[in-house]
Amino acid sequence: MIVNGLTESLTERVSTGNPLIIAGPCSAESPEQLLDVAKALCADGRTHYFRAGVWKPRTSPGTFQGVGAEALKWMAMVKRETGLPVATEVANERHVYEALKHGVDLLWIGARTVSNPFTVQEIAEAIRGVDIPVLVKNPLSPDVDLWEGAINRFARVGITQLGAIHRGFSWWGKSIFRNQPYWSIPSSLKERMPNLPIICDPSHIAGRRNLVPIIAQRGLEQGLNGLMVEVHPSPEHALSDSQQQLTPDSFAALLSALQDTQHSFALSEELLTELRSEVDSMDDLLIWALANRMELSEQIANIKRTNSLPVLQQVRWNQVLSRVVQQGGGKGLRPVFVKRLFSSIHKESCLVQQALVQNKPAKSEKQVNFISSKRYHHGESCN
Ligand code: PEP
Ligand code: MN
Repeated sequence: MIVNGLTESLTERVSTGNPLIIAGPCSAESPEQLLDVAKALCADGRTHYFRAGVWKPRTSPGTFQGVGAEALKWMAMVKRETGLPVATEVANERHVYEALKHGVDLLWIGARTVSNPFTVQEIAEAIRGVDIPVLVKNPLSPDVDLWEGAINRFARVGITQLGAIHRGFSWWGKSIFRNQPYWSIPSSLKERMPNLPIICDPSHIAGRRNLVPIIAQRGLEQGLNGLMVEVHPSPEHALSDSQQQLTPDSFAALLSALQDTQHSFALSEELLTELRSEVDSMDDLLIWALANRMELSEQIANIKRTNSLPVLQQVRWNQVLSRVVQQGGGKGLRPVFVKRLFSSIHKESCLVQQALVQNKPAKSEKQVNFISSKRYHHGESCN
């Protein structure tokens, strides 16, 4: 399916260990700003496509929404002056026509757009019959089906130069990242579409300059085929995403560090911080799930009380336990661990339910063990 252009060169690059590099500012702000970065990237010589957002999907109204079609003329000028092929984001049919009219060489679909199948289809129809590379960012939610579906919409209209961009996923908890990397999601996409090049956008995952290099390194170590990095001549004055953009010099240093295997050691401290942050966000998820589970258990207790049903129900507990042991086994978790974990969760659930049914504050674990040890240890359920 994926045969030419970008894909061919990507395959070559992957086999030579040379990833696809796309770099440039988050937004096109002025002709001078664009030319400034593009000249630096061109002189460095390691960037394959120059990126800049022309229409910006900003979270809040009243913020900088991009210059619009006018900036496409500046992109054309950059291409003329530096010879770098240019890339921009399109979010509707009109954007596609404008971008193609101005000779844009690569189109990408932003995370917010990918979440809307109607818009993706509209864009795909507008590109039908055009031989241009299209890169599809992951949707905001960690939904590999939605991501794959969007890519397939482009494949179905005959786009052969297809790829994906991993830019992380929205997350409600506290995290050092702007968007959670959840590396298993791009891995699943790779399993489903083994020929599809997937590149990493460390800028939007990190959200902070100092974390961009470590995410870039992690992305390549995870087997991704390239990078899209935001580079601005004066990041602190950028009109969008000022926290995460790199200067051309720090971008060049990042690329050199990636080529330098010695540097991996220097980064190991940062890697530890990065991995721990991922662990923290998983712990947040566990706490969130436990709190929600307990709330459901309380609702069940109220039904039991109203209907004078017993709190402990053995058949149900057996079902709960065998289901989670089986599920855990499928994910490589030892049955003994899953049993221990869920017995503890279940014990607490029993405490809370008994208290609610009896209309009393929850007893200590010891008291409940004493009162209900016989029934509990025979494996009866509270939920
Ligand atoms: C961008 O690349 O500037 C952008 C808006 O990205 P995303 O769609 O990943 O938020
Ligand atoms: Mn951006």
